[in-house]
Amino acid sequence: MTATDAVVIGSGPNGLVAANLLVDAGWSVVVLEEQGRPGGAVSSDDAVAPGHVHDTFSSFYPLAAASPTIRGLHLEEHGLEWSHAPSVLGHSFGDGRWGVLHRDRAATASGLEQDAPGDGEAWLALCETWDRVGDDVLRGLLSPFPPVRGGVGLARQVLRPGGLELLREMTMPARSLTERLFRGESARMLVAGNAGHADIGLESPGSAAMGLLLALLGQSVGFPVPRGGAGRLAAAMVSRLEAKGGELCLGERAEGVRVEGGRAVAVRTASREIRARRAVLADVSAPALYGGLVPWDALPTRLRHRMARFEWDPSTVKVDWALDGPVPWEGPPAAGPGTVHVADSMDEMTLTGGQVAAGLVPDKPFLLVGQMGVADATRVPAGGEALWAYTHVPQRVRGDAAAGRSGVREVRGTWGEGDLDAMAERIEQRIEDRAPGFRDRITARRVLGPRELEARDRNLVGGAINGGTAGLQQQLVFRPVAGSGRAETPVKGLYLASASAHPGGGVHGACGANAARAALWHHTIQLPWRRT
Ligand SMILES: Cc1cc2nc3c(=O)[nH]c(=O)nc-3n(C[C@H](O)[C@H](O)[C@H](O)COP(=O)(O)OP(=O)(O)OC[C@H]3O[C@@H](n4cnc5c(N)ncnc54)[C@H](O)[C@@H]3O)c2cc1C
Repeated sequence: MTATDAVVIGSGPNGLVAANLLVDAGWSVVVLEEQGRPGGAVSSDDAVAPGHVHDTFSSFYPLAAASPTIRGLHLEEHGLEWSHAPSVLGHSFGDGRWGVLHRDRAATASGLEQDAPGDGEAWLALCETWDRVGDDVLRGLLSPFPPVRGGVGLARQVLRPGGLELLREMTMPARSLTERLFRGESARMLVAGNAGHADIGLESPGSAAMGLLLALLGQSVGFPVPRGGAGRLAAAMVSRLEAKGGELCLGERAEGVRVEGGRAVAVRTASREIRARRAVLADVSAPALYGGLVPWDALPTRLRHRMARFEWDPSTVKVDWALDGPVPWEGPPAAGPGTVHVADSMDEMTLTGGQVAAGLVPDKPFLLVGQMGVADATRVPAGGEALWAYTHVPQRVRGDAAAGRSGVREVRGTWGEGDLDAMAERIEQRIEDRAPGFRDRITARRVLGPRELEARDRNLVGGAINGGTAGLQQQLVFRPVAGSGRAETPVKGLYLASASAHPGGGVHGACGANAARAALWHHTIQLPWRRT
């Protein structure tokens, strides 16, 4: 039997961050990855069209660029190079107007001021508050909950002008917050569109958190992408891990965790059992760990009851296109944005979110769009574009909000080829409406529905991208179930290291870092004669 200090199950960003921190502490580490490539939802490929590099899943990494843990890995020494689009983010309105987040806050403010007098000043005031408390807010959010070190800094900072107010604003519904802060639609939608990255309705408490966080990170660190493709970020983490003696085993799925005397002692794959002398860190979804890799009879009954209430986030349909020219947006911003949000108005976003919550495929889907050639010219042939757009659809479809509308193909929610084509056409039409001639530039297309996403990464259950809902009822000490908030599990030596753990989805590595630090801490405080 192979033996190692720690086995990490899954090589998503959280698994790779965890493995890197453990090798830094001198542990021997084996990472098991089911797929034939590392990185989980941080991966790129050229399967859509030769010469076009598409990010298969995630693309923009403000959270990674700001994460103290990922920065501390110094991945630039392992080949990572960040690239930025001329502007960070554009919100495209139905009537051809744009709201633009520039790298330079004065430029952002000047555009917002033109849209609605007073909004530029309000934006700059928000940025100044972030300058004072942003680092501590971020550290607090990314630490185990309740935070201790970040929390102390945060407590000190919030006493400064604006700090406490910013925290209160993050707990608000995105709609009430943006309507109070700003007068114009551009500024409101820059924040509300970012809130749309999580699955909390714009009228629900807590939705402002993601909106403010991403908008203010966009302003402070940008929305960078790895030069050459998202896979380069994963490759840099693997290169660092291997340079320090860690081992990555691709194409090897963990099938079970052996628990003896209440402690995780080994991980089983189809062909072998690997003994874990110190810890097992699971970068898998909470439902795949509890009652899956670890059988229910090795877990407390109360966990089983709590897991019965675990909620997934909505499903996703993503379309990748190769284009032979840029997207012909009407009245495009002078500085091209890497990320584009497509929604006519906040009201439309509210209705779309309501449709998804009610089990309806939205008739006017809110689109998150990535112009990867704008963000990184090395990914496309000269003059071409590697574009993607994704949108959320219900996990269980009860109907189509566009059913019966003339000229619109109905989506039934079975997500076979017909549904994927119909959904892709609906998404294309939204872009075509704002960019006449867009369709003529498409040279190749790939549609990834719920099944295709899950087949490429089993953590994306039913196309859920965040390891479980980001709703307040499943955050902080309620993530993944009430009484959590930290990476420890009821099994000694076993840690939940994936986005199902606090603080949830996004490429920040915090779930993996929290798990690695918990494992190191528990091992250190063991009495020496109990160490193996
Ligand atoms: C379409 C899409 C777009 C996104 N866009 C962004 C974005 O732009 N920016 C951002 O910050 N975040 C984005 N996200 C979210 C982000 O990618 C995830 O939150 C993040 O990847 C979660 O990391 P993880 O390590 O927890 O899990 P994952 O990245 O899902 O990795 C889990 C890994 O574990 C492996 N695995 C699972 N079970 C086993 C097993 N039993 N044995 C062996 N291996 C196993 C899987 O194969 C996978 O490689 C996006 C996600 C998706 C799907």
